[in-house]
Amino acid sequence: MKKNIPFSFEFFPTKTDVGAEKLRQVHQELQPLGPEFFSITYGAGGSTRERTLAAIRDFNGQGTPVAPHLSCIGDDKTRIAELLDIYKAQGIDRIVALRGDLPSGQVGLGELPYAQDLVRFIREHSGDHFRIEVAAYPEMHPQAEYFDADIRHFAEKVQAGANAAITQFFFNPDAYFYFIERIQKLGIEIPVAPGIMPITNANNLIRFADGTGAEVPRWIRKQLQAYGDDAQSIKAFGHEVVYKLCERLLAGGAPSLHFYTMNQTDPTRQLVSDLGLI
Ligand code: FAD
Repeated sequence: MKKNIPFSFEFFPTKTDVGAEKLRQVHQELQPLGPEFFSITYGAGGSTRERTLAAIRDFNGQGTPVAPHLSCIGDDKTRIAELLDIYKAQGIDRIVALRGDLPSGQVGLGELPYAQDLVRFIREHSGDHFRIEVAAYPEMHPQAEYFDADIRHFAEKVQAGANAAITQFFFNPDAYFYFIERIQKLGIEIPVAPGIMPITNANNLIRFADGTGAEVPRWIRKQLQAYGDDAQSIKAFGHEVVYKLCERLLAGGAPSLHFYTMNQTDPTRQLVSDLGLI
């Protein structure tokens, strides 16, 4: 029987026309699964501004809502306001609001140094038009001073006007449940969707984890290393690990799942299908 759990899919904007065409195909393959929305990432400092806008234009109005990501670090209010107005005019009503990470070499935090400043600015500029999603880190943001400080800063984003959150990917479900317990103690009741990263390739996963500060547990790293070039075994193991993680999260009350598709159809489609979400 189909479980009545919403799920969403994340894409990143591609650099080439060929990549954009491939992404259109992935979008067409995933859309019939019935996601709640597709989100499109945005390079910090505006580095993918045009490409994010182009992808949003491609997918908006095709049946499933789209949610642009918007980051604030190194950017200014005028350019961010411009984007908010463009999205509003296109009928978009959901935004994923982030701080972003400064590209190496770029200095100056800009007018909005933290995501909470961006959330506040979106509310000032666009009122309640947008549903605002923010990032959450069950295993702590890598730059936070300590766990409680990160929880406090998360609460500040909610007080500034965030409606919901999506987590960084993680493989330890207890970290998610503990995070939820801690924010609920502060009276925070907004839905927090676990961010789910399918495992398909050991090197990519570890590179991505190292870049974002996400943790890949030793038992997963070592098993992936042991498979070497055996792509089939990596995929089968990766599917089982992530499937079981999702099952535990849903059994423990996660309100929805957000999949980092990495612009691929099959790994996410298989998970959503095996979990009984479609
Ligand atoms: P914040 O919430 O501002 O937190 C950043 C750090 O600052 C934390 O350590 C926090 O504890 C601390 N902090 C917050 N407020 C204060 C304060 N007032 N004083 C002192 N410290 C403070 N990046 C992109 O560039 N583009 C994307 O599209 C993108 N999409 C993402 C989607 C999801 C679901 C997630 C989880 C992350 C995404 N990221 C993206 C990555 C994100 O931008 C980085 O993780 C970034 O380092 C932090 O962003 P944030 O919005 O969580 O920042």
